[in-house]
Amino acid sequence: MASKCYRSSPVALGLAARSFSQTHVSQLNSLDTFTEEEQMLRESVARFAQEVIAPKVREMDENEHMDPTIIQALFEQGLMGIETSADHGGAESSFTSAIIAIEELAKVDPSVSVMCDVHNTLVNTVLRTYGTKEQQDKWLPLLAESKLGSFCLSEAASGSDAFALQTRAKKDGDDWVLNGTKMWITNSYEADIFLIFANVDPSKGYKGITCFIATKDMGIQIAKKEQKLGIRASSTCTLNFDDLRIPAENIIGGEGKGYKIAIEILNEGRIGIAAQMLGLAQGAFEKAVPYTLQRTQFGQPVGTFQGLAFQQARAAVEIEAARLLTYNAARRKEEGMPFTKEAAMAKLYASEVAQRVSGAAIEWAGGVGFTRETGIEKYWRDSKIGAIYEGTSNIQLQTIAKYLQKQYS
Ligand SMILES: Cc1cc2nc3c(=O)[nH]c(=O)nc-3n(C[C@H](O)[C@H](O)[C@H](O)COP(=O)(O)OP(=O)(O)OC[C@H]3O[C@@H](n4cnc5c(N)ncnc54)[C@H](O)[C@@H]3O)c2cc1C
Repeated sequence: MASKCYRSSPVALGLAARSFSQTHVSQLNSLDTFTEEEQMLRESVARFAQEVIAPKVREMDENEHMDPTIIQALFEQGLMGIETSADHGGAESSFTSAIIAIEELAKVDPSVSVMCDVHNTLVNTVLRTYGTKEQQDKWLPLLAESKLGSFCLSEAASGSDAFALQTRAKKDGDDWVLNGTKMWITNSYEADIFLIFANVDPSKGYKGITCFIATKDMGIQIAKKEQKLGIRASSTCTLNFDDLRIPAENIIGGEGKGYKIAIEILNEGRIGIAAQMLGLAQGAFEKAVPYTLQRTQFGQPVGTFQGLAFQQARAAVEIEAARLLTYNAARRKEEGMPFTKEAAMAKLYASEVAQRVSGAAIEWAGGVGFTRETGIEKYWRDSKIGAIYEGTSNIQLQTIAKYLQKQYS
């Protein structure tokens, strides 16, 4: 298929991975300076998104369905194992490379972007960070090459308070038997591999939470697919586990370590959502601004009236600020520096900017911006989720406030 040509080009991800260490980020001048390899990756993903994804965006949104050829193309591009080692079939690239890919995909379709984001920054990262060698050898090649992953933490009664989860796991011989229901699970309609958080000992509270890896064919039931305001091509389902039997060897990181895994991974994952929202804001901006410089009213392009031009200038500043917050959080994470507060700031701000810019972009384009034909209104619908998943905006503010209180008391 058409996408194969990207893989064989010199900008394939593997090349980026091998040469990344040659230009250490601390030698770079500014936050939006990239290694040559990262820049090539950006161009490659942008081209892929324009040529392969863009033609399908509207249809996928209208049908609330992810085209399976897009999922396959992401695997073929090496975009589903960006940080995974070459030994495990991945591109062995940097965290910032994953962030760049998520951003570029979101410029064209935030639904495809979040699919890639959850798969890379949550599912792959849990296995790379906490999996045993045997678990990594077994699961990472599948996740890099063909099997989509889901991250199953939230439930009907436990969203922001994630560790109040009710899914239970009981030991039975060499297996664990899971019972419960997960809600809001991204990718789950198309996924084969599921990271499931369940409590093995509720008497220990959150210290009983344990992370299991399971496959769909073990008996995971898709109970309901949500119909959503935005990111409609990204599947979000309720899952039932009815005596779901999982071998003991499928515990990741040890019994009772699930809460630690979830906290650490979501801190990192938030930078991915910031990148998704950043790409979304830029995508909306790039669709609307050129139109305003072509559309003439009162004898001049509407974008040259100060009332509109200043709004666009302000939006450009906000996008730039979101960009620098996002790249800063990513670089800090990559360099092994503390990044939790910075990740929360990036996610909070980028999701606000995405909403503001995509909302304004509709108005800049006037009536046509309000129609589904231009695709501008879709960015605005898609932007709303940024303030909700992987920790709502209030939860990000809570994290930032905790750091401030520690710093100033
Ligand atoms: C499209 C979509 C995809 C998702 N994908 C996944 C996924 O793949 N895996 C997964 O596990 N989960 C997923 N989620 C779940 C998501 O992470 C939760 O929806 C989110 O954490 C919020 O939980 P909630 O919906 O229960 O809202 P609630 O926690 O009920 O929050 C409702 C409101 O109360 C506020 N609030 C809550 N607690 C506080 C507080 N302490 N202080 C101030 N305000 C507070 C919130 O900010 C929010 O405004 C997804 C959700 C959606 C909608």
